[in-house]
Amino acid sequence: MAQATDIIIIGAGICGLYAAKELSGKGKSVILLEAREAAGGRIRSINGNFSKAVDAGPEFIHGDLPITKALIKEAGGAFHEQNGKFYRSKNGKVKESEDMIPGWDRLMKELKSLKKDVPLMEFLNTHFNDETDKELKTAVINMAEGFDAADANRISTFAVREEWMGDSMELSYRIEGGYSMLVDYLTSECKKQGCVFIMSAIVKEINWKPEPVFVHCSDGRSYSANQVLVTVPVGILLASEDEKSHIRFTPGIPEKIAALKQMGFGPVIKINMEFSSAFWNDPKYKGKAPQLPDLGFLLSESEIPVWWTQEPDAPFLTGWAGGSRAEKLKTLSDEKLFEKAMASLSEAMNTPVELLQRLLKAHSVSNWGTDPFTKGAYCYETPGTAEAKKILAEPLEDKVFFAGEALGENMGTVEAALESAVGVLTNSHFCRILP
Ligand SMILES: Cc1cc2nc3c(=O)[nH]c(=O)nc-3n(C[C@H](O)[C@H](O)[C@H](O)COP(=O)(O)OP(=O)(O)OC[C@H]3O[C@@H](n4cnc5c(N)ncnc54)[C@H](O)[C@@H]3O)c2cc1C
Repeated sequence: MAQATDIIIIGAGICGLYAAKELSGKGKSVILLEAREAAGGRIRSINGNFSKAVDAGPEFIHGDLPITKALIKEAGGAFHEQNGKFYRSKNGKVKESEDMIPGWDRLMKELKSLKKDVPLMEFLNTHFNDETDKELKTAVINMAEGFDAADANRISTFAVREEWMGDSMELSYRIEGGYSMLVDYLTSECKKQGCVFIMSAIVKEINWKPEPVFVHCSDGRSYSANQVLVTVPVGILLASEDEKSHIRFTPGIPEKIAALKQMGFGPVIKINMEFSSAFWNDPKYKGKAPQLPDLGFLLSESEIPVWWTQEPDAPFLTGWAGGSRAEKLKTLSDEKLFEKAMASLSEAMNTPVELLQRLLKAHSVSNWGTDPFTKGAYCYETPGTAEAKKILAEPLEDKVFFAGEALGENMGTVEAALESAVGVLTNSHFCRILP
């Protein structure tokens, strides 16, 4: 016998949790089916040997994002501006850098005059193909691939233009206590309002022709509901039948699968490290490590190219490889990735590995491209994304609806996941609950 409810939400990431809180707050009965043992999805904090929790997933609020900020306020939380200067490491020298990209003004001029959207690589090959443009071109590719987890052969130049000219590049914030405080708040509200959380429930099939809709899990349990909200990542909707997170739709959804293939969804490798000293700004290590006062971000050409601090003087560093760099590395074991991270940091900071090893207190490796319930990090926009989103946002006979980061306006962010939840909640064919 299938357990019945008004609404089943598949995925207890921020999108599913937010939708569940709003729906249950209006008296709907909600079951959340979540494959992992804990809620939060891509929002995950790690304690391990760290002296305070660090984030395996999101850390920043990229710009003035209204739903995220309102939710933090509702949860009684606070956020502060991200501090610190940019530095660039090249040929063993680390220097403060005003521009993240050399030749920024020329790049902006060409971007502004672009009339038709093309993949970024095509744009660069057309406008910056001289030998003298090499440095600019490499920096643009590294930045787009790194921060947007993108493939430069696929990412939309219009999307890059919009992002780099908007406020998200200049203004970013951090939530006190990290994004996990939002997960804790939403989970607790959902539970108070009677939502049923079923954890370690890997959905295998959604049979959406009958009324009600049936959802079957890999452990044999089944559930039925009038409407189902699917919030799993693009990587899961595209997983092949032999993968444990694959969801079969009965009948199949070939039009949506074709649309999903037009979207960009890239990997990220994130390495968190804690040291016994912020050696980059500690006179004790002068002469052994470069002194980088007020370090925010350090950009380099190493295999793990981007490094950032939590606060300039706190002894934590995060290493980051996104897009094609992460794609190349993602099949390596966590131990190998950690070795590469130490070698990259040593190169980027021009500091001996032995010193880094001596000062290291804790570390963790998060390889999102191989995470079984995400299979990537987040979406980026391709020239085909707008059309693909319209197709994905169409419900299946007003019974199965889709939401999640891929369907929000600010793709690839927590805000996008929340935007997509609000979008479905205000759809008149879903149980309309918001004004
Ligand atoms: C490394 C990294 C860094 C990031 N940095 C930032 C940042 O700084 N700022 C920012 O705004 N955003 C950032 N993001 C993006 C942000 O984390 C996501 O956009 C957002 O958390 C997505 O929420 P969601 O609810 O749409 O999806 P998810 O959090 O992925 O939730 C979907 C849920 O579905 C579950 N699921 C999957 N398959 C199944 C199945 N078969 N059955 C049942 N359940 C299933 C998953 O376990 C998961 O819990 C980052 C992401 C990553 C990975």
